[in-house]
Amino acid sequence: MRYFLLIALSTHSFGHNFLSPLATLRSAHSTLSHAFTRRRPYPTIQMEETLRKALAEKQSAVDSQGNAVRALKAAKATKADVDAAIEALNGLKLEKASIEKQLQAAVSGGDGSLSREAFRQTVNNTLERRLFYIPSFKIYRGVAGLYDYGPPGCAVKSNVLGFWRQHFVLEENMLEVDCPCVTPEVVLKASGHVDKFTDLMVKDEKTGTCYRADHLLKDFCNEKLQKDLSITAEKAAELKHVLAVLDDLSSEELGAKIKEYGITAPDTKNPLSDPYPFNLMFQTSIGPSGLSPGYMRPETAQGIFVNFKDLYYYNGNKLPFAAAQIGQAFRNEISPRQGLLRVREFTLAEIEHFVDPENKSHPKFSEVANLEFLMFPREEQMSGHSAKKIPLGEAVSRGIVNNETLGYFIGRVYLFLTRLGIDEDRLRFRQHLANEMAHYAADCWDAEIESSYGWIECVGIADRSAYDLRAHTDKSGVALVAQEKFSEPREVEKLVINPVKKELGLAFKGNQRMVVEALEAMNEKEALEMKATLESKGETEFLVCTLGKNVTITKSMVTISKEIKKEHQRVFTPSVIEPSFGIGRIIYCLYEHSFYTRPSKAGDEQLNVFRFPPLVAPIKCTVFPLVQNQQYEEVAIVISQSLTTAGISHKIDITGTSIGKRYARTDELGVPFAITVDSTSSVTIRERDSKDQIRVDVEQAATVIKEVTDGRTTWADVWSTFPHQSSASADDE
Ligand code: AMP
Repeated sequence: MRYFLLIALSTHSFGHNFLSPLATLRSAHSTLSHAFTRRRPYPTIQMEETLRKALAEKQSAVDSQGNAVRALKAAKATKADVDAAIEALNGLKLEKASIEKQLQAAVSGGDGSLSREAFRQTVNNTLERRLFYIPSFKIYRGVAGLYDYGPPGCAVKSNVLGFWRQHFVLEENMLEVDCPCVTPEVVLKASGHVDKFTDLMVKDEKTGTCYRADHLLKDFCNEKLQKDLSITAEKAAELKHVLAVLDDLSSEELGAKIKEYGITAPDTKNPLSDPYPFNLMFQTSIGPSGLSPGYMRPETAQGIFVNFKDLYYYNGNKLPFAAAQIGQAFRNEISPRQGLLRVREFTLAEIEHFVDPENKSHPKFSEVANLEFLMFPREEQMSGHSAKKIPLGEAVSRGIVNNETLGYFIGRVYLFLTRLGIDEDRLRFRQHLANEMAHYAADCWDAEIESSYGWIECVGIADRSAYDLRAHTDKSGVALVAQEKFSEPREVEKLVINPVKKELGLAFKGNQRMVVEALEAMNEKEALEMKATLESKGETEFLVCTLGKNVTITKSMVTISKEIKKEHQRVFTPSVIEPSFGIGRIIYCLYEHSFYTRPSKAGDEQLNVFRFPPLVAPIKCTVFPLVQNQQYEEVAIVISQSLTTAGISHKIDITGTSIGKRYARTDELGVPFAITVDSTSSVTIRERDSKDQIRVDVEQAATVIKEVTDGRTTWADVWSTFPHQSSASADDE
């Protein structure tokens, strides 16, 4: 997905007037203060972009001062003038070098923070070591783009999906369905996937290794823009333009650019083939004959569309309503990179909200209208600005977001993601540029989350108009439509096309039926154009697709008129608003946003912590006897049983390991609370991030944990209610 991240700086070409990028970075550091150091392990993309922009501007100042020096010399100016100009040029060069250094430090982590890559490595090492995920089929050296979720990963996923059902399906009374992954070809032919679900691919001409052509071009342009500090302003503008139109490039244009820039295979530097389309669907055949082609579904949405008629009936023939589905989707990605973010099989959670195209208001919009978060409208992207906070109500009333229902879902997605623990400052809603949107779509926004890989599209929220239901109506012959019954019959003007069969029969004999059907299938615009031509010229050429040729239609062969008719109902194809959630991507970003390290008590190592909210945490609580002692173990078992009865996932650890080590182990799994049994009447409860501890009676322990993990109370409330326990006694990590 493409984006523009240039940030408006109040700058002039010369240094004295603009905000020093270092100052920008410093002030950003100080305003974000605690939050930044704890939550942002590396400089944000925005900070990096600020420096990049400052560098580009300084470069152009150097260029124009260089020209000025040359002009003075050519004009044989006085030595004093030339020297002064050269001194100014040297000053600018020094300033440029200083910005370069800052940028280098920000990118590589030289400013004291971790570099993105180092941070990612630390998170991924922890995730893999603690079995949040495992590369699939690892003992056979794995398969790119396929991953297993291990025990804590499964628990996190199940919590995220549980919350998704609660937040969307339950809250909005959605109709949940569960359809097969194996899908017959006809369904995906109708949806357009068989013909168009392709990426352009190039092959290493010697080894046959495949790459996504647009990714290679994108990487080349980004690398040049970011690392080659010697490129001219014109070249930089050209590369930016290529990035902006990347999605629009035809196979030929993409191939030409790859040749022009001399792009070779990244691994071997061998020449590349011309780009050609590769369909991302996994093909299969249904049944033993091999005659019934099918595919593993690339999305779950089609299962809902094909069931529209029954779901509409189930809903009492009323609109609006939404159907939802959670399930696996399969895409044979050409060269999956970016670890868990681009995989070949993943869980999608999709909502199809069906609505009357003439009324896209939403009764609950007022509940989200006051939310304010980062939005990145099309115009801001085109003019090189960055995302900014806009109240959602204003975005809809100003027409930035196409309609209330779309706006409502944007707001609900924001609440969903932030309640899961996504950092709201690293979440933005980016509107699709005109060239990214399908021609039928009314408006599309992506919820993008900033991770160490950059901004990642995690949820797509699109108003797809009536496209999908129409496509399946056309292919299946089953009308996927809704009706609005009028309380009083209404007079409506209707276009009536009457083919004169006798005349058509004489003219077209055996082909008469095909011509009649084609005439009747004309839309209003086509019919009115034909009527006008017949009236002015007496005949017209008309394409009959089923015959594969044009035929001549004369005035006597068809009557086209507008008539007033009484109607008792309106029949229409509903529009669909589709929020589509990549669950794996959300979870991965959540891992990055939740991860931090803190020094051990002795200060000799960094300990890893996942700051998961209780809602997401794979295990809510651990129970440890402080020392190995039968009485304490019995108390631990009693508490464990109460936790089980209360439905709280927990882990009991009666190994003799030091309590500090046990805390460190569970912090690394993101367990928010730990109960330590250090007496037979009362126990301590420790909160993971603050390491604060309270003392509660044994009988109260499970209830306190239940209340705080269910969100019925907060740790702050618990902290102010119960006696505090000095952490030194137990927390010796
Ligand atoms: P799309 O239908 O392409 O808009 O994809 C819907 C959602 O699926 C996206 O917003 C992503 O979160 C997710 N997604 C798409 N492709 C992949 C992939 N290869 N691996 C993981 N998630 C994906």
